[in-house]
Formats: sequence, C-alpha cells, structure tokens
Amino acid sequence: MTEIDLSPLRAELKKHFQKSMPNSNLEYCLTCGLCASGCPASDIEGMDPRKFIRYLVLGQDDLLKNTNWLYSCSICQRCEYACPMGIHVGRFVYELKGMKPKELRPKNLQKSCELQKEGNSTGVPNADFVWVVGDILEEVHANEPEWADLKAPMDKVGAEFYLNQNAKEPTVEPEEMVFLWKILHAAGIDWTYSSKWWDGANYCLFSGDPKDWEYVTRMQAETVDALGCPTYINTE
Ligand code: SF4
Ligand code: SF4
Repeated sequence: MTEIDLSPLRAELKKHFQKSMPNSNLEYCLTCGLCASGCPASDIEGMDPRKFIRYLVLGQDDLLKNTNWLYSCSICQRCEYACPMGIHVGRFVYELKGMKPKELRPKNLQKSCELQKEGNSTGVPNADFVWVVGDILEEVHANEPEWADLKAPMDKVGAEFYLNQNAKEPTVEPEEMVFLWKILHAAGIDWTYSSKWWDGANYCLFSGDPKDWEYVTRMQAETVDALGCPTYINTE
C-alpha cells in the first residue's frame, strides 16, 4: 500500500487537466469502482483507475508522475464507457505519458516508437518483408496444391482493400500470415499489402507523444491513398 502524504499538496496536474479538459468532472468521482472492474490492466504494477483519480484530486502529482503503472494502461477507454460520471481516465493517462521526457519512458516502448517512425516497429528492412511474403507464398504453392492459385499481392494499385500487417509475424512466425491470405482468397477479396509503412501497429500512441503518433498514422494513411485503395483493413 502506498502512503499518501497530504502535506506536499501540489495539485498542478489537477489544474492542468481541468484547463485542458474542462468537462473532466474530476471532483465527481464516486469511487464506485466500475472503472477498475472493467479495466484489463487492473492490479498490474498496482494499477487502479480509481487510484489515478484519487491521486489527482488529492494533489499527489509526484506519485502520479513517477508511478510504473502509467504504462500498464493501454488507453483502451473501457473505464470511460463504464464510468457513470463521464470521467476520462484513459485520456488523463495518455497526457501524463506524454509529459514524461522520452529518456524516462520505458526503453522498449520508446524504441519501438522510434523504429516505427522509420517505417516499422521491428526495424526490419522493407525489402526483407517483401522477400518473406514471396518466400512463404512459394512454400504454400509448393506444399499445398489446393492453394496453387493463392496470392499475396504487393503494391497493387487500385486494389479494393489495403491490408496492413503485424510486424511480428513476418519477423518471427511468418507462416501465421497465410491464414488471412487464405480467408481473403476464399472470399474473393481484391487486396494488397504495401512494401512500405506496412506495419499495422503504432507504438507512438502508447508512448504518449501525439506528434509521433500523428506522423506514423499520416505516413500509413498516405501509403494507402497513393495506392488508391478505398478500404483499409487494420489488423492491429
Ligand atoms: S467509474 Fe468513474 S465514478 Fe466510479 S470510481 Fe471510476 S472514475 Fe470514479
Ligand atoms: S483506459 Fe487505461 S485505465 Fe481505462 S480501462 Fe483501459 S487500461 Fe484501464
């Protein structure tokens, strides 16, 4: 249990949020616990959305800024849907993550975001992704005659659907990609991958930096626009 020392009351964060989110309703929290009961991260590193609100209201800024469980929150917003008072815990957490200097954020998370800004979160060269897709497709053709006409199109201009890809699969378990190719093929879907900005993830959302997050999202979206695909299938 963390002891709360009320003497160093600062409440700067509370003032900040009341200004940046005037409808944040911080003072209305009933401590009912509905947010905590719906939170998938409850109890990880002591995480509890109620605690977050109590710390804010009681001016425990240092506790909030230094807590490990900031990064247990995935900003899924389930707590917001559950809260009878309309309190947006996930949005507070997101802003607070972004206030932390980059060098003090979890290293792996920040590294994934930095790599993402160069193209994908694993740092795999685009040429390797293209090669792996072609190689796995060849294997299917060689070993599964019933799928001899299976396709995994790359940079197909004007395809009806654009498909992004979890970067982990081509790097560590490439055969996992094939299941979705088969489903799309069986459904007669006209689809394509892109040879750049193909990673469906965006770790910059979780590191809390809106500029980085926006940059990666924009690059991904511009890639789809350049191919002229009307529909984006986001697998992440
Ligand atoms: S659900 Fe809302 S009112 Fe209830 S404890 Fe959580 S933040 Fe407070
Ligand atoms: S946004 Fe964060 S605090 Fe709210 S339910 Fe999701 S993980 Fe829990």
